Amino acid sequence: METKLNIASLESWKTNNCHPLIIAGPCSAETEEQVMQTAIELAKQNVHVFRAGIWKPRTRPDNFEGVGIKGLEWLQKVKRETGMFTATEVANAKHVYESIKHGVDILWIGARTTVNPFTIQEIAEALKGTDIPLLVKNPVNTDLELWIGAIERFNKCGITRIAAVHRGFSSYEKNECRNPPKWQMVIDLKRRLPGLPVICDPSHMGGKKSLLTELSQKALDLNYDGLMIESHISPENALSDAEQQLTPTELGQLLKKLELRKVNSENKIFINILEELRTKIDSIDDELIDVLEKRMQVVDTIGRYKKQNKITILQTQRWEEIINKRIKQGLRKGLDEDFMQNILKAIHQESINHQTRIMNPDFVEEINDAIFKW
Ligand code: PEP
Ligand code: MN
Repeated sequence: METKLNIASLESWKTNNCHPLIIAGPCSAETEEQVMQTAIELAKQNVHVFRAGIWKPRTRPDNFEGVGIKGLEWLQKVKRETGMFTATEVANAKHVYESIKHGVDILWIGARTTVNPFTIQEIAEALKGTDIPLLVKNPVNTDLELWIGAIERFNKCGITRIAAVHRGFSSYEKNECRNPPKWQMVIDLKRRLPGLPVICDPSHMGGKKSLLTELSQKALDLNYDGLMIESHISPENALSDAEQQLTPTELGQLLKKLELRKVNSENKIFINILEELRTKIDSIDDELIDVLEKRMQVVDTIGRYKKQNKITILQTQRWEEIINKRIKQGLRKGLDEDFMQNILKAIHQESINHQTRIMNPDFVEEINDAIFKW
């Protein structure tokens, strides 16, 4: 179902072949002094790309909405005086023309833009013929297809130097993170679009300074290609995202703390032990699959029995009992509550599918829909 994309490697961005690629800078360009002071300090911390928002998408009106075109001249000065590459966010065709006219090296698409195929198409058309490096942030909602769709639209318009940015997803529930990450979704994204570089934005994910090191390390452990971190010369006075911005010195300290691990090792002992452990995992997975098969066989027998006795598939009380009992069992064995919920729900759904097929083989889809709504 996937169209094969033509994605260039990160090396082709010519950002000096650095791994991980470090992109840092203020949430917003505010004044020439703030931009220049931040940039000069960040260059000392070996940051490769300087980021700054020129046009700011704000959730509520009457907040600072960016300095506009004059900020692009400050970015030109950053490039001239520090040698760093520059990056800014574009959210419409006009932003694209102005940024390219002012020599911005890398553009990014914000999370609120990735959700809208009309806007993405407009920006993609404006980018035709440029092949400028482009960062596509995940959409605000957890929709992998929207994210892939945006990347496809850019690629169809000739943009090959594309990287995805994982900045987390908005959530109504209170969460430690401002935008909780979905690490598994990005693993799926990489599987669906092989060769696509992925960068993590722990600043918008965490929303506060204290979470940045842990989130950055996690991204590197998952073999991300780079980090995009907000940094401001004086975070407490920032006009946007004040709580999550680091001073350039704090950013340097964070980068020093991060451990870069290798994807593979050549150490023979390490390889042997890893092989042994992986064999163990393989045989545990085999057992898991056998157990699931056995469970479904019993579910089928119950289904036939319910059918003979004209009993409904779903008995809410029984389901409640299972969920409560199994979660407690899992907790006692050190398994996470959310993990238990997810796995039990998936098993229950599959059991319902089996019994629906037995009860009424023609209407599996409709009954499933109804049960989901319930
Ligand atoms: C930003 O990077 O400043 C920004 C607005 O990010 P996001 O689109 O991830 O909210
Ligand atoms: Mn921001």
